Amino acid sequence: MATERTLSILKPDATRRNITGKINDKIESASLRIIAQKRLWLTRSQAETFYSVHSSHSFFNDLCTFMTSGPVVVQVLEGENAIANYRAVMGATNPANANPGTIRKEFAESIEANSVHGSDSAETASNEIKFFFSDLEIVG
Ligand code: ATP
Ligand code: MG
Repeated sequence: MATERTLSILKPDATRRNITGKINDKIESASLRIIAQKRLWLTRSQAETFYSVHSSHSFFNDLCTFMTSGPVVVQVLEGENAIANYRAVMGATNPANANPGTIRKEFAESIEANSVHGSDSAETASNEIKFFFSDLEIVG
């Protein structure tokens, strides 16, 4: 295993319900360190670019509307095996299928409003971190 960095987003359903601290507790309890963090309100263009891999899917338009419906918190997480570890802590995309104790099982409202995003590979993690953060903003 190696120390990795991954990009996390606490989605608008999480900021709306004021549960970002509860989610950060889950993150830190899983030995992931929050080495960068800021609160943003994504523009439509940013949401469409960030989720462009899904642009052909039927849920794309609704997803971009949801992601711009309120503030988000974007984060860089660091730790051993951080990319897969965070995906495990997040739980399945659909909270109905998420394991007990995961963020999505405990907090997600629906398959769309599922509280968190996490990068799914080393390549996407690198690209997604650069999308939101400069090197100066990341303090490991
Ligand atoms: P994320 O990329 O946000 O970490 P994920 O990797 O678990 O989530 P993806 O397949 O990449 O899931 O889907 C991206 C996001 O699009 C999901 O987190 C969810 O918000 C939304 N989404 C995915 N599938 C559906 C669907 N069938 N209906 C509505 N929204 C969906
Ligand atoms: Mg994804």
